[in-house]
Amino acid sequence: YLGARGCTPRVRYPVSSIKPLPDPAMARIVMKFGGTSVADIGRIRNVARHVKREFDAGHEVAVVVSAMAGFTNQLVGWTREASALHDAREYDSVVAAGEQITAGLLAIVLQEMGVPARSWLGWQIPIRTDSSHGAARIAEIDGSVLIERFGQGQVAVVAGFQGIAPDNRIATLGRGGSDTSAVAIAAALSADRCDIYTDVDGVYTTDPRIVPNARRLERVAYEEMLEMASLGAKVLQVRSVELAMVHGVRTCVRSSCDAPDAPQFNDGAGAGNLPPGTLICDEDEIVEKQIVTGIAFSKDEAKITLRRVADKPGVAARVFVPLAESNINVDMIVQNVSADGGHTDMTFTVPRADFDRALGVIRAASDEIEYEEVSGSADVVKVSVIGIGMRSHAGVAAQCFQALAEKGINIQAITTSEIKISILIDAAYTELAVRTLHSLYGLDTH
Ligand code: ADP
Ligand code: ASP
Ligand code: MG
Repeated sequence: YLGARGCTPRVRYPVSSIKPLPDPAMARIVMKFGGTSVADIGRIRNVARHVKREFDAGHEVAVVVSAMAGFTNQLVGWTREASALHDAREYDSVVAAGEQITAGLLAIVLQEMGVPARSWLGWQIPIRTDSSHGAARIAEIDGSVLIERFGQGQVAVVAGFQGIAPDNRIATLGRGGSDTSAVAIAAALSADRCDIYTDVDGVYTTDPRIVPNARRLERVAYEEMLEMASLGAKVLQVRSVELAMVHGVRTCVRSSCDAPDAPQFNDGAGAGNLPPGTLICDEDEIVEKQIVTGIAFSKDEAKITLRRVADKPGVAARVFVPLAESNINVDMIVQNVSADGGHTDMTFTVPRADFDRALGVIRAASDEIEYEEVSGSADVVKVSVIGIGMRSHAGVAAQCFQALAEKGINIQAITTSEIKISILIDAAYTELAVRTLHSLYGLDTH
């Protein structure tokens, strides 16, 4: 499955990271806090209280932090302003800076609260990545230094989103990459748990910002979460879910809401008394299986249509090979049967960021492809219905098409896999489509 996407993560970990802990009540945990959870010093103090709770419960704790809310956007903006064609290595050295600040600030606040803490940048651990600056993959993490520090009673505060590339320069992991840092560190340390604290209290049946009566899921299977994340639910970075699945990291998404100082939360039970969040786990750990688990949507799409393409062997290759050579990922493809036996229309989607480039590639190859006209639109959205229950239930797609037809929503392209259906529609209908499907499959809370 992962192989089909060409992205099986190859992460090697030192054998020394396999830990025998003296007391089973003591756990080794990784806690990750995203941008809004560390937005100012007050929020960082709140994070420190969460960390102190686990530390006081006797656990070994590594904390992974993001840049303060909005800071990475600011840094990305500056690199673009400096030069539209900036060097990816220098982009990385700029945008990795936000996490360094948060890590240092959290260590300071923890120390002030009496928790021994030390900050760590990617290169200091080290977290080794491949050479794809700007969207690097983690290749290897040496957990030994952090484990040594745990032995000395220290909390490790790790800057997320960054590592060190083979050229010895800082590399970043792509937007939202701190999730991946956290899960990879949890795997490297053989941690008992990886808790992703964020501004929602779990993974919902769809983005709660769009559907207020979305429901929090108690548990989601790794595979479903992988589909949800790659089809637009940005609550977890896709690679973090891949790593959690491959290494069997028990990953929990939970709220970083105010850490209570009340005694019942400091009774040594660690996070035991906190709201439960959502556990990402193996499929067989899920008792109540639904047919459809969630609805995701992505505005990250653009569609291109070629009219009157010759309908003969080799044409698809002439369209898609030049796109692949330009590193443009094609997602959905629709080809009609030809009415006249000689020509057909072809529609496909590409990432919105590559839209102009893709049009350029198609136009440059027009002599070889032989089409009459090319057109495109970025005003589209891909809405997806996800659920492992679909494997064994027929009719889920039919219901979806029917419900959208009743609302007058035209479907422009469709793709399916064993556990998802994706449809491409006019972006203006995003909310209507998501809400309609959310109700259709019985996901609403009321
Ligand atoms: P962080 O800064 O903590 O990494 P993100 O903004 O990256 O947080 O992710 C949390 C956001 O993901 C939520 O505020 C929510 O709007 C969005 N989101 C999208 N889809 C879902 C979903 N299915 N369940 C929960 N949150 C979702
Ligand atoms: N700060 C980075 C970003 O905004 C990484 C993260 O938050 O996960 O993309
Ligand atoms: Mg995030």
